[in-house]
Amino acid sequence: MSKEYGLSIWGEDNFIIDNDTINVNYGSKPSLLEITQDIRDMGYRGPILLRLPHLAKKQLQRLFGEFDRACREFGYSGKFKAVFPLKVNQYPEFVDAVTTLGKEYNYGLEAGSKAELIIAMAKTPIGSPITVNGFKDKEMIALCFIAAKSGHDITVTIEGINELVTILEVFKEFNHDNTHAISPKIGMRIRLHSSGIGTWAKSGGYSSKFGLTSTELLEAYEMLKREKLLDRLAMIHFHIGSQMSEIGPLKKALREAGNIYAELKKRGAANLNAINIGGGLAVEYSQHIPNESRNYSIKEFANDVVFLMQEISRSKGVKEPDIFTESGRFVASSHAVLIAPVLELFSQEYHERSLRLKEKNPPLIQELFDLYRAINKNNAREYLHDALDHMESLLTLFDLGYIDLEDRSNTEILVHLIVKRAIELLGKNGTKELKRLQNRIQEKYLVNFSIFQSLPDFWGLGQNFPIMPIHKLSTKPTRSASIWDITCDSDGEIAFNPSSPLLLHDIDVEEEEYFLGFFLVGAYQEVLGMRHNLFTHPTEAVVVFDDNGEYHIKNIIEAQNLIDVLDDLDYDTGSIDKKLKSIIEDSHLIDDAEKQELLGKLYLYLSENSYLKTILSLDAKMKKGSKR
Ligand SMILES: *Cc1c(COP(=O)(O)O)cnc(C)c1O
Repeated sequence: MSKEYGLSIWGEDNFIIDNDTINVNYGSKPSLLEITQDIRDMGYRGPILLRLPHLAKKQLQRLFGEFDRACREFGYSGKFKAVFPLKVNQYPEFVDAVTTLGKEYNYGLEAGSKAELIIAMAKTPIGSPITVNGFKDKEMIALCFIAAKSGHDITVTIEGINELVTILEVFKEFNHDNTHAISPKIGMRIRLHSSGIGTWAKSGGYSSKFGLTSTELLEAYEMLKREKLLDRLAMIHFHIGSQMSEIGPLKKALREAGNIYAELKKRGAANLNAINIGGGLAVEYSQHIPNESRNYSIKEFANDVVFLMQEISRSKGVKEPDIFTESGRFVASSHAVLIAPVLELFSQEYHERSLRLKEKNPPLIQELFDLYRAINKNNAREYLHDALDHMESLLTLFDLGYIDLEDRSNTEILVHLIVKRAIELLGKNGTKELKRLQNRIQEKYLVNFSIFQSLPDFWGLGQNFPIMPIHKLSTKPTRSASIWDITCDSDGEIAFNPSSPLLLHDIDVEEEEYFLGFFLVGAYQEVLGMRHNLFTHPTEAVVVFDDNGEYHIKNIIEAQNLIDVLDDLDYDTGSIDKKLKSIIEDSHLIDDAEKQELLGKLYLYLSENSYLKTILSLDAKMKKGSKR
């Protein structure tokens, strides 16, 4: 990986590298570093989630732009419509941005639960579509009727016959007079024969959790007809799963769904006029060419959808349907970047000054020391091999009780220093072996964030996200890194395959700050985030650009404080507060003045969030001794 960290693969021109920083490729092109510094200057510490709404807008422009183009080129008579699936990101700052920016496209919202439905009802502009998917009870369906009666263009997609029975029931409760009846439109989710490809492929196919079989479709059709509500049937829906890596399965699904649409239309569903292709449009997360995550472009995607719908409609002699998409990942992922400070490089303790050499050292240790002193360009490979060999022997000697802990510590330090030195000396001429060694000895970078909170799909699904430093980019990174978060969980680590390492800079965090950016985290990560170890959603900030291209930082929401976190878990925080206060006041170890001082400190800490607050000077002070 070169110093651009695969930006040309995953970056979509959203960012550019300018000298030694990565900058937002928009307006005055500020660097992520200066934005981060601005926010830290306001006193915020810990990880920061930056929202860049202009990137969500760009995705909407691409989505609508490509489909409009395809419809024009093919002379397609149906309309293109889209909704944002709320499950992908329900955070208010994002939903507000996307509904505001989406107004010019009549962009609507998709809801999969009651709480999401309430957001959709409140935030979707009247006239823009709302679609409702997922399992529904009577109350949820009643909410859909309330939405319809308030003037919303809402379509309820039924996942099974029972839901249709409930809809008919609620219909009667809400409409006593069938001639002026107002109700949501009805969609039918079909159970696809074909299934998707990729990590999330379970959403499609016969074993899917969702959708109606052909038999059930016919049953539902007849039920609607019998109840004289066939005119409500408006949409056929499918969703083949998220992050669709190949276009093939989508084409199969489109043929299935298109033919079902045409069959039902010909049978007499006069108002059936839309096909909803769900989500699945993939995002390129790869930082390395060999594992590109999708084999199609948005252009090909739009062309295939429009072409196939047209072809099927023509051959069956029915009207071309409106096309709905519910792409979420595609719209949301690029808008958010997580910036987190590096707290420590673990091997920094492998420093010459940490050696505890004795008057008389075991011979192998003495030899290691001599190797370290004498290593040069010509002997580097040989000395490196000797050092690795000695290390094995010395570790065995320790296990057998022949050398002590200080000797073992000296072994670790010296071997580490020799490997590092050999890598420096051999530089570009390094052999494959050396590269492998370099990559295997991954430096552990301790980073002030939680993988469970901010990258849950890494933990749960092995999904990689682009990671790179946001500065020092004109300096060659030399350390093959692994990333450790600050949870106490050994799964809180991102290690890299030696064949595709993440190279970071060899910095001294006592001397300078070092920030990593985690990109494409705007879809799913925020809401799936877990409070493992009670680390919360990071501090977030919205970055907007004015007409002059200058950026402004808005709507900072600080990460929850300690007391609010406990309150969320339903702890009785009042009694915790009282208890903490009383044990300090009752303590026999300290006097009243000190009690007051401790209480002051305690209340200050309780009002802060749980991320670490290391400040350079303080950090340096702690480091004087041994850090860990
Ligand atoms: C999850 C989901 C989506 C969004 O999928 P993306 O892959 O994020 O585009 C759309 N529709 C339905 C029904 C879903 O369940």
